[in-house]
Amino acid sequence: MAAKGEICGSDYYRRLRRPESDPAGTLTAFTIVRFRWLRALSAPQTFPSRPGVLRLSEDKTIMLLTVQDIHKTYQTADGPFTVLRGIDLTLQAGETLALTGESGSGKSTLLHLIGGLDTPDQGRIVLQQQDIAALDDNGRAALRRGTVGVVFQQFNLIPSLRVADNISFQARLAGRHDPTWEATLADRMGLTSQLRKYPEQLSGGQQQRVAIARTLAARPRLVLADEPTGNLDEATAAVVLDLMLELVAETGAGLLMVTHSGNLANRMSRRLHLRAGLVA
Ligand code: ADP
Ligand code: MG
Repeated sequence: MAAKGEICGSDYYRRLRRPESDPAGTLTAFTIVRFRWLRALSAPQTFPSRPGVLRLSEDKTIMLLTVQDIHKTYQTADGPFTVLRGIDLTLQAGETLALTGESGSGKSTLLHLIGGLDTPDQGRIVLQQQDIAALDDNGRAALRRGTVGVVFQQFNLIPSLRVADNISFQARLAGRHDPTWEATLADRMGLTSQLRKYPEQLSGGQQQRVAIARTLAARPRLVLADEPTGNLDEATAAVVLDLMLELVAETGAGLLMVTHSGNLANRMSRRLHLRAGLVA
């Protein structure tokens, strides 16, 4: 179930398109709805103390992310289809990890599981000492707002918001709206002259950079990026990746990035390859 405030999926767009949300199709009507949401969503978030929350003693290294023995099978019309068969990985704050693998090898599936957008059939995902599986829908939504930032393969920009509002959206949800940082990101991503435009008025490469800026604006502890430079030519992709690496380093976050490109993967601190549902 999508929890209230989720930015990630089609549910979000359905809400925006509901006739009662925007009866005259005006920005004014939309803005009222938006600010009601933002008020509700920027309320202090608390993670209830639950049995599933791990308490590590101080002498152990605390990983930003630990993924243990993750399995995922999709139920399809043709029967069960197993994608992940026991994935293990770890990531420390400040580390950058490239995830490679052929198309269909389960890279996006793994990213969605780590981002709390879907649940594994088996295994554990521990993010900042919290076992994601132990969180309820609201807990996972809070995780998505505050701790994890996802750059989606299909961007998922909000069509009815200008570029500037798209960039600040996730930060507002996380209660970390910072106009100076957002302006810096827009500048570094070469978007300053595009801020008043709507996503449909941008090229694919520009939309991709807006999606990256939106994620980084919220200063997530963990950035999950699904082929974030897939729409860019090789030279631009390298520039944008270097920029992402620099910005992620500035915020001290960890980065897990899916890429097809061996050249881009080599610029990151570690590299994992998915094959036949396992880390090869
Ligand atoms: P990648 O990102 O590595 O290209 P995905 O994680 O998107 O791969 O998909 C892995 C496999 O799982 C693919 O064969 C895809 O068709 C299948 N798959 C992905 N999502 C679903 C779903 N919701 N239902 C059924 N099969 C799916
Ligand atoms: Mg994919």
